[in-house]
Amino acid sequence: MVKQIIFAITLIITLGVFAYTLTRLISYFKLTKPFPVKNIGKRISVMLSVAIGQTKIFRFPVIGFLHAMVFWGFCVILIGSIEMIIDGLAGTERILKVLGGVYDIIIATGDVFAFIIFISIIVFLIRRMFLNVKRFGGIEMKHKSHKDANFALTLILLLMVTLLGMNTAYVAGNSTLIHGIYPVSSLLSGLLASLSSDTIHLIHEINWWGHILLIFFFANYLPYSKHFHVFMSVPNVFLSRLDPLGKLPNMDSITNEVRAIMNPDMASQETSGESEPIGRFGVLDVEDVTWKNYMDSLACTQCGRCTSVCPANITGKKLSPRKIIMDVRARMKEKGPGLVKNGKDYTDNKSLVKDYISAEELWACTTCNACAQECPININHPTLIVDMRRYLVMEEAAAPGELNSIFSNIENNGAPWQFSPEDRLKWTE
Ligand code: SF4
Ligand code: SF4
Repeated sequence: MVKQIIFAITLIITLGVFAYTLTRLISYFKLTKPFPVKNIGKRISVMLSVAIGQTKIFRFPVIGFLHAMVFWGFCVILIGSIEMIIDGLAGTERILKVLGGVYDIIIATGDVFAFIIFISIIVFLIRRMFLNVKRFGGIEMKHKSHKDANFALTLILLLMVTLLGMNTAYVAGNSTLIHGIYPVSSLLSGLLASLSSDTIHLIHEINWWGHILLIFFFANYLPYSKHFHVFMSVPNVFLSRLDPLGKLPNMDSITNEVRAIMNPDMASQETSGESEPIGRFGVLDVEDVTWKNYMDSLACTQCGRCTSVCPANITGKKLSPRKIIMDVRARMKEKGPGLVKNGKDYTDNKSLVKDYISAEELWACTTCNACAQECPININHPTLIVDMRRYLVMEEAAAPGELNSIFSNIENNGAPWQFSPEDRLKWTE
């Protein structure tokens, strides 16, 4: 009973802290612009293939395979974690054993996955700490980012150690009545054979509590870490942009204006029909991004796959698509509390564009979409970059010189070239 009470108090504290974080994040989401979500069927199919099937991850076969194993392993081990919470509250032992044969399969798979994840995480840590993997570097990858990644990986490692420790002690301490099948822990249980049953029980309890407390801590650490993608990547893929990658979205407000000039009757019918007052054109700061853009920034794994294929970055330009996404998160963290507290007119005399992301970075983008193609969680960088450029052009008339002459040619000649429309057919002479 004492164990149940302690467990319940710990769980309540965990849920309380998590609810606080969630409320804070929701208040930030409320500051952002809408992002319509349609076509649920197609979204489910993208989610099954990209998130659950981990298809994009396999472009790097070896490391992708290990990552996929960690993801699938987590899905199975999650069932065991739910069982531990029920056991902790109800004072039962392995309550899901009522599932019979299915339970055996879940437990056996989880036990094997725990070992595979353990090995995979060691490989990931060695790679991060000792191999100079280029895509883990870059101006946006500060010392703090590396520390965060290593810390989260170490937590996962400890989670697997305690899970295997708990299972091993369970097998070693119950020679007759064992619920579930433990392929790895059965082998390891030989190591405890010489210990007394009291010691084995103590080892089981230490690992049981260690494992569940780590889960509780991990759940509350994740929202502040790059490893938030553990929660966010599946919903983020579900919310992927479904248009073809090369298609840039029009601005409805502008389309409507132009159509109103050309054909007043058709204007309001042909656009999406949303008649929101026009605020700012494009994106200057975090309150101008859509909630999906903000979600992308929380889901970003900081893997650097986008930056590693970016032709601008590869050829030495300042642009790094990963930095653009990370900057959205950092800027919301900085400005969000002020906006929540003081309302939408709050300003700290800084902005996402200029203070975080320079015009030079934005104009270096070729909109080739290699970054969006490569991102394992389907983040779409170019649409955000273009929205920031739209701000520069439409609000500040701050386009590069070459574009300015194109704009005036379009205005004067109806085409990007510097020739009058009357001269167009001159070449026939
Ligand atoms: S779309 Fe822009 S940011 Fe993305 S890879 Fe191409 S140049 Fe880089
Ligand atoms: S945007 Fe996508 S590809 Fe780029 S670092 Fe984040 S998760 Fe990786």
